[in-house]
Amino acid sequence: MPLKSFYPNSPDIIITENQPLKQFSTLGTGGTAEYFAQPETISQLQELIISARNMPVYVIGGGSNIIIPDGLIHGLAISTRRLDAVSWQNESSAEIESGHNLSHLVKILREKNIGGLEFSAGIPGTIGGAVSGNAGAGGRGICEFIECVKAVDISGRLVTLRRGEFDYGYRMCSISGVIIASVIMSFTDCPAWNESLYSDFMSRRKSQPLRFRSAGCTFKNPPGNSAGKLLDECGCKGLTFGGASVSDMHANFIINSGHATSSDVLGLAEKCAHRVYECTGIKLELEIKTLSPCFSV
Ligand SMILES: Cc1cc2nc3c(=O)[nH]c(=O)nc-3n(C[C@H](O)[C@H](O)[C@H](O)COP(=O)(O)OP(=O)(O)OC[C@H]3O[C@@H](n4cnc5c(N)ncnc54)[C@H](O)[C@@H]3O)c2cc1C
Repeated sequence: MPLKSFYPNSPDIIITENQPLKQFSTLGTGGTAEYFAQPETISQLQELIISARNMPVYVIGGGSNIIIPDGLIHGLAISTRRLDAVSWQNESSAEIESGHNLSHLVKILREKNIGGLEFSAGIPGTIGGAVSGNAGAGGRGICEFIECVKAVDISGRLVTLRRGEFDYGYRMCSISGVIIASVIMSFTDCPAWNESLYSDFMSRRKSQPLRFRSAGCTFKNPPGNSAGKLLDECGCKGLTFGGASVSDMHANFIINSGHATSSDVLGLAEKCAHRVYECTGIKLELEIKTLSPCFSV
């Protein structure tokens, strides 16, 4: 496709060609995007989608839950990191753009003495990524607080999904085929900030290999069970595949030991899942997601 037919009209939107994506993932693996952009406003995001005719479009938030495929990724990869404005509508409700950092939102809520999101302590990434997988801990998830999602669809239109128009559950949200542009979160019925609850969730992070590059927990917990415990009991700690290894601190974390590829990480995940299945008959389901197109426009 000739480049000119793709490039948006707005001179403010910068498109990079052959952009390595490693630095946009916490795992630090993956290939190169044919085209790459970081919109700063929702209208720039819409314009990008309208311009990207016939191309697969990918969206990356904080890159803390994804595996970016190795090699050349055909199409347009969009990072939402610069789409990060927050506007408070009143004391207990805010519109937050999808690239806003979740930890930063938690910091604001703590300062405002608004409780509810203490369980998000230490979860990396953006609001858009968190909503797309209903990130959370201790049986809670961020989608509980979402009143409304504004998202850009395949034709570049901004659509609104209200609470009740989408489902969510343990590490899942039914919103798909759109790019989340912003969310309206309501903290109306929330209690005051609970510092000891927050510290409790934060201290659970001590069992995680935070000094190493990872994408968080590799597998979801099977019903009534812990994936980390199963992996540990089946002897997965320390297993390796190329440059990827299972953390010996937490068996549900695959870490990039330095020179891992995404194929190494996926190969190791498969090896672990196979071992757990052989040992226990339980099929583990991946929590980390391979970056795939939101849509092909
Ligand atoms: C050390 C560590 C600890 C973690 N602990 C937890 C935890 O306790 N609980 C938990 O739930 N998770 C945890 N995670 C995983 C991860 O941080 C969360 O899932 C996080 O919410 C992902 O957000 P992100 O912005 O990084 O999303 P990304 O990794 O960038 O993307 C994840 C998915 O969301 C899609 N996406 C991103 N933005 C948008 C958007 N605007 N519109 C539509 N789709 C979008 C992507 O295409 C991809 O499919 C942890 C990760 C790490 C590295």
